Amino acid sequence: MTGRIFEIREFALHDGPGVRTTVFLKGCPLRCAWCHNPEGQSPAVETMRRKDGASAVCGEDRTPDALAKELLVNADIMEQSGGGVTFSGGEPLAQAGFVIAVADLLRAAGVRCALETSGAAPEDDYRAVVSRMDFVYQDLKLHDADAFRKWCGGGEGAFGLVLRNLAWLRGSGVPFAVRVPCIPGVNDSPADREAFLVLAGPGVAVEFLPYNAAAPAKYRMLGRKFPLAEPER
Ligand code: SF4
Repeated sequence: MTGRIFEIREFALHDGPGVRTTVFLKGCPLRCAWCHNPEGQSPAVETMRRKDGASAVCGEDRTPDALAKELLVNADIMEQSGGGVTFSGGEPLAQAGFVIAVADLLRAAGVRCALETSGAAPEDDYRAVVSRMDFVYQDLKLHDADAFRKWCGGGEGAFGLVLRNLAWLRGSGVPFAVRVPCIPGVNDSPADREAFLVLAGPGVAVEFLPYNAAAPAKYRMLGRKFPLAEPER
């Protein structure tokens, strides 16, 4: 078995508790119009070309053993800081079997694991991966099905799937926080905020994240058009 990743970011400080290594996995069933990791959407290997002509390949395959070995290089620093490894993407649950295999190797070596997910994944995959995690960041991008379909895609039923997975997460005992990417004019009104808090559920920690204005440049490097109007600078 191999998995496909597009970045390993060491010493990450915002992807969970302590100092972390974040693994970005290729492939996502959604197409959020503001996605700031468009190189993570397609499962295919892609090339990003910068304005100066330099290019970088996005997408490398690893076996679970090879990836775990690479991640364990920083095991001591992660342990001392209360950190660990975070699986991100793309949507890490699109490669659920691979994430499970890597997480099991890491956990056997005493490394704590966290997941960043849109929740748009089959319930069996979601539960199998989440139950191996020490912490989960669960995205809530929109708070109604029509808006979700319009801005995130994913087909019929994707929003309902996210809500079912979130409901299971609430009762799972796995520590988690809900993250909302605040997109100007899409989901950032006071009424939107209130709706997100209600949807997350009583007592659930909700982090409202500012819009990432660096996204359009990555689309240009992939030869794609940024789906949202570019923000004024
Ligand atoms: S779920 Fe995440 S990776 Fe997938 S399209 Fe949306 S923002 Fe991008």
